[in-house]
Amino acid sequence: MSNSPISEGQTSQPVANTLRHAIVVVGGGAAGITVAAQLLERDRTLDVAIIEPSDKHYYQPAWSLVGGGAYRLEDTIRDEKDCIPPGATWIKAAAQTFEPEQNRVVTQDGRRIEYDYLIVCPGIQIDWDKIEGLQDAIGKDGVTSNYSKDYAPYTWEVLKNFQGGNAIFTFPATPIKCAGAPQKIMYLADDTFRSNGVRDRTNVIYCTPGAKIFAIPGYCESLEKIVDRRNIEVKYQHNLKAIRPQTKEAIFETTTEAGVEEIAVPYDMIHVTPPMSAPDFIKNSPLAVQEGPSKGWVDVDKYTTQHNVYPNVFSLGDASSLPNSKTAAAIRRQAPALVENLLSVKASRELGGKYGGYACCPLVTGYGRTIMAEFDYDKVPKSSFPFDPTQERYSMWLVKRYVLPWLYWNRMLKGKPFEADALAGGDR
Ligand SMILES: Cc1cc2nc3c(=O)[nH]c(=O)nc-3n(C[C@H](O)[C@H](O)[C@H](O)COP(=O)(O)OP(=O)(O)OC[C@H]3O[C@@H](n4cnc5c(N)ncnc54)[C@H](O)[C@@H]3O)c2cc1C
Repeated sequence: MSNSPISEGQTSQPVANTLRHAIVVVGGGAAGITVAAQLLERDRTLDVAIIEPSDKHYYQPAWSLVGGGAYRLEDTIRDEKDCIPPGATWIKAAAQTFEPEQNRVVTQDGRRIEYDYLIVCPGIQIDWDKIEGLQDAIGKDGVTSNYSKDYAPYTWEVLKNFQGGNAIFTFPATPIKCAGAPQKIMYLADDTFRSNGVRDRTNVIYCTPGAKIFAIPGYCESLEKIVDRRNIEVKYQHNLKAIRPQTKEAIFETTTEAGVEEIAVPYDMIHVTPPMSAPDFIKNSPLAVQEGPSKGWVDVDKYTTQHNVYPNVFSLGDASSLPNSKTAAAIRRQAPALVENLLSVKASRELGGKYGGYACCPLVTGYGRTIMAEFDYDKVPKSSFPFDPTQERYSMWLVKRYVLPWLYWNRMLKGKPFEADALAGGDR
């Protein structure tokens, strides 16, 4: 079997209007590549196609380090063609509509892709436009975000040249990918300001609409101690609504005894974590949850990853309704459950795979320090390592900086067992 992926629609030959594959994966990011590779590891004869528009694949978890000047952006990017598993077909297109009654996906360029089984994983949508003024302001005059490869390197420019004043870090009022990332960059910033001698004339301020600094007890208490120790001001119930670059003000909606009011906080730099949601083409599709708090995400069972209406449809990763913390780490445990269950449906067996809500957020709390925050649906700290996971450790910084990127490219995306998980004894 050739090692290069078969690519359809990339040549000057006419594009066939209807294609058919046994298993079609929508999205070739962390989830799509991992699940396709695991399927082919289980059975090399499977006919798997991946619909993915991008030429590049990104290791987004390292963008926090890029913003802190501790990782090169180039090292987070690979050609998509080199990530597509051998034996899979790459359909270089963007999915646009789903016709699950006909077992069909239609792409933006008008192709119909028919399937026996569908796996939906196009990631999360970043709603930059939901913060008034942000799109015009970002990337200059101290306004930045690690949530885009276009601005993560600029974050480092801002941090290393910062001369003091208000340094604001925000968290939005929506689910986001990697809920720890808005804080990680703040701790790296605080260290940078200290080593550059500007910390004593800087107010480091963390603004969150929530009432807690982190959702998981145990890790939350550790982080509260860290912000105290670092003299960081935390403003709870502060939801960023607008950026006014002319006056260098951030406008927050905040809840006080008097009700909801808007307040302006001057900034000298601001790292924005923008609101996020399911991609629009998912929200508007019959595959989405139609009502309730999970509205818009792909409607799947939280343990099996199988669609709640269409049994031949599955979803994992950030676009799914799985109520875990949206991380690449979660996909490591979702993918084996999904693969087992898809193959069970195919073989008319009972579903045997179960995802327990595992997620891991390596909370970088400074250069050389990380809390390896692992937990599952029970929201209780759990560790793959034989020590208290709620403590900052140099060893976990080394895991975050060196071990996890290697495992991502060489094990996870290849569909191979992930050693840290094997250590932990499988799913929980
Ligand atoms: C700053 C930052 C820090 C992070 N830190 C961590 C961390 O420390 N640990 C961790 O585990 N995770 C972290 N994450 C989160 C992690 O990167 C995501 O959870 C993970 O990438 C989700 O995988 P996914 O496949 O669902 O989405 P993605 O990896 O985003 O992939 C989605 C893919 O779908 C494609 N797509 C989009 N639209 C369409 C369409 N219409 N048709 C077909 N394909 C489409 C996209 O091009 C993309 O390739 C971080 C993310 C960021 C941004």
